[in-house]
Amino acid sequence: MTDFTTSQTGAPVPSDAHSLTTGPDGITALHDRFLVEKLASFNRERVPERNPHAKGGGAFGEFEVTEDVSAYTKAAVFQPGAKSEMLLRFSSVAGEQGSPDTWRDVRGFALKFYTTEGNLDIVGNNTPVFFIRDGIKFPDFIHSQKRLGASGLRDADMQWDFWTLSPESAHQVTYLMGDRGLPRSWRHVNGYSSHTYQWINEAGERFWVKYHFLSRQGVEAMSPQEAEKLAGSDADYYRRDLYESIRSGDNPVWDVYVQIMPYEEAKTYRFNPFDITKTISKKDYPRVKVGHFTLNRNPQNFFAEIEQAAFAPSNLVPGTDLSPDKMLMARVFAYADAQRYRIGTNYNQLPVNQPHAAEVKNYQHEGNMRYFYNDASTPVYTPNSLGGPEADAARAGEGGWETDGALTRAAATLHAEDDDFGQAGTLYREVFDDGERARFLEVLTGQLHSLTRPEVIERFFWYWTNVDAELGAALRAAQGGADSTPIQAAEPVGVGE
Ligand code: NDP
Repeated sequence: MTDFTTSQTGAPVPSDAHSLTTGPDGITALHDRFLVEKLASFNRERVPERNPHAKGGGAFGEFEVTEDVSAYTKAAVFQPGAKSEMLLRFSSVAGEQGSPDTWRDVRGFALKFYTTEGNLDIVGNNTPVFFIRDGIKFPDFIHSQKRLGASGLRDADMQWDFWTLSPESAHQVTYLMGDRGLPRSWRHVNGYSSHTYQWINEAGERFWVKYHFLSRQGVEAMSPQEAEKLAGSDADYYRRDLYESIRSGDNPVWDVYVQIMPYEEAKTYRFNPFDITKTISKKDYPRVKVGHFTLNRNPQNFFAEIEQAAFAPSNLVPGTDLSPDKMLMARVFAYADAQRYRIGTNYNQLPVNQPHAAEVKNYQHEGNMRYFYNDASTPVYTPNSLGGPEADAARAGEGGWETDGALTRAAATLHAEDDDFGQAGTLYREVFDDGERARFLEVLTGQLHSLTRPEVIERFFWYWTNVDAELGAALRAAQGGADSTPIQAAEPVGVGE
């Protein structure tokens, strides 16, 4: 039997090629319901792209726990031998849907684990830090990296104006302008939770953790020249690389580690562990292996399974929780809210977002595009005397931390070694090798030459001199050699809390 096309409601379509007209050369009839439905459907194909992290790609896989970290968390997903289905979406931050993959940027590394206790999302990046430490600055930060209001153009002055007026960005900008800002592919990046999260064990003991996902493919970079060439010849280079590699059976693997800090030690640690612009030194808290995951299945449909995939750091499971990181607390609201706007109220009912291994039972109902519903015997309110599900009061105390109580708007208390530039300087001097330092200077010199506003240029020198005095001097020399004297690190006009 011929497989006829149908309307959305199942009726056969008389033509896919000719609209209904008054004679072969006449006007088109508005009541051509097949034409109208087809065009209306087409008009609604795009959902709003993510504001940051618009361009991406991803794949499904399996996470397996090979070690025993049960002393630190009771989460089923992290118990010895546990296996969970998972999804990983990579992305760039600033570009739009069609942007070239190989523009220099931080790469998103968003994980969803479909666990027996509900979905656990760890929504991180390929860097262990971030540009800002308070979510209230996030819209300003993203605006500065996107486009000017008037011309719709990206603008280096705007980017550097924001960064140099927000010196807490120095560590992340050092990462970004280093080799890791241009990965060889998504398969060749490490992922980090960046934030500090909480783990809770069976006995109720609490620990602070940072997740690290280390690529077994190795961490590899691409030269700016190659990246620029690829941006022109193959804008989807990373997306293609991931898809082709999985299709050919070359499944990428990441080892999963955590840094674990006992709860009390956060109070006196030399860096504030809840400041996302800082790392916790591995010399103080070495990485502890948990297991590994393998990406082994491409999406069957990019739109349904990647574009509609909705990650949110608020998706946590028992034995895992948040921390008093101000960026994290803001993201707990912002991510789920972005998905409600982008996909719709009931976005968690889509196959890619539904928990696969846990049941959903609550009294939320109705709303746009509701697909699942309770049977008629289920009450629509709680408390009820009809045997409906009840909250687990035993969990009420889980995942908390002490606060000093008074509401305030202030920068977090500094720990002994907290400052905006120290860890950026460590990265530049102690982690980068000579080759990377030379490439870094070249990249920064290119950035410098794209700046036009004198006050931004002056702050650019101030910023990098604070990271490293010799670097600042080298940049000033690169400006044209007019003045190669290292400038004193000083507060430029306009900087301050
Ligand atoms: P370590 O010497 O133990 O860690 C240095 C780490 O830097 C490496 O293990 C590696 O992490 C990462 N790294 C190596 N090469 C590069 C590169 N070219 N660009 C960016 N990162 C690189 O020292 P500490 O833990 O005391 O950290 C020192 C500095 O290292 C920090 O200030 C921070 O800038 C950086 N760093 C620290 C991380 C941490 O979580 N402690 C993680 C990543 C960087 P990896 O194996 O994860 O790639």
